[in-house]
Amino acid sequence: LMQLFRPLDMLGMVYRTIRQGLIDMAAMFALIDTEVEVKDVPGAPALVVRQPSVVFDNVVFGYDRNRTILNGLSFEVPAGHHVALVGPSGAGKSTIGRLLFRFYDPWQGRILIDGQDIAQVSQRSLRSVLGIVPQDCVLFNDTIGYNIAYGREGASEAEVTAAARGAALAPLLERLPAGLETEVGERGLKLSGGEKQRVSIARTLVKNPPILLLDEATSALDTRTEQEILATLHAIAENRTSLSIAHRLSTIVDSDCIFVLNEGHLVEQGNHAELLRYDGLYAEMWARQANEAEAMLAG
Ligand code: ATP
Repeated sequence: LMQLFRPLDMLGMVYRTIRQGLIDMAAMFALIDTEVEVKDVPGAPALVVRQPSVVFDNVVFGYDRNRTILNGLSFEVPAGHHVALVGPSGAGKSTIGRLLFRFYDPWQGRILIDGQDIAQVSQRSLRSVLGIVPQDCVLFNDTIGYNIAYGREGASEAEVTAAARGAALAPLLERLPAGLETEVGERGLKLSGGEKQRVSIARTLVKNPPILLLDEATSALDTRTEQEILATLHAIAENRTSLSIAHRLSTIVDSDCIFVLNEGHLVEQGNHAELLRYDGLYAEMWARQANEAEAMLAG
């Protein structure tokens, strides 16, 4: 009898794996157009993370053979460090995130987490150590509590409540008579953009991953909400390794380490003041954004 049920058990496990994977994927980059082309190597061991460092080692990648997006990209984010990725639109910032989650494999080079090649470990274990807070998160037509608990199977109510607090959802939940049991409505339409993002932050907190990928473009939010969300994001990144994709430079002036990407290369690296002194691409991008902001104020 046991023999008979084992395959069913396996199916359940596979289903759970896929489901968890899909949540991350859907939440991440609306990957509807991405085919699953990456497979585990036979008998792939689990990724074991003690020091969550991230290394891109001479990574070459493109979505199709005719066009290379990353041209031998190398960088290291030591465990516990926070790096902001900036660069002109199309420079490859989001691509780095997709490769880190192993939605694609590099053509050449390796990506290492805590010294282990992510192509050699199971995808399930890889995705369990990575958290993502996307700009546009996908919420289920269910309760706020359910949406938060989705971060990790078997999350307790206490963990969900703590995560909601960590994501600064407490004021909202206090206003709602049903609290965590409040239905978010079809695709979460009853929540504002900022509130949805907080639910997504809480979901990530429940998952408690050692490595975070943050997509900081919060263009859909007003400035005050944006500042508050950024403060929450920075607080939850505190004890983790984080990579932030910053589309607007104003959000990263305080970063210790900014990686400037251009045409698939790391071209500059440093903090805001150092990069301004260097007077290269970052300084140019900064001047352009300052001009645009001034023009907007004047207009
Ligand atoms: P932005 O700041 O505008 O979001 P980015 O630096 O994040 O830009 P990526 O999204 O990484 O840029 O894209 C890098 C390049 O790869 C772009 O030229 C983009 O058009 C291309 N690209 C992205 N996704 C795909 C895909 N699924 N298929 C083919 N090309 C793609």
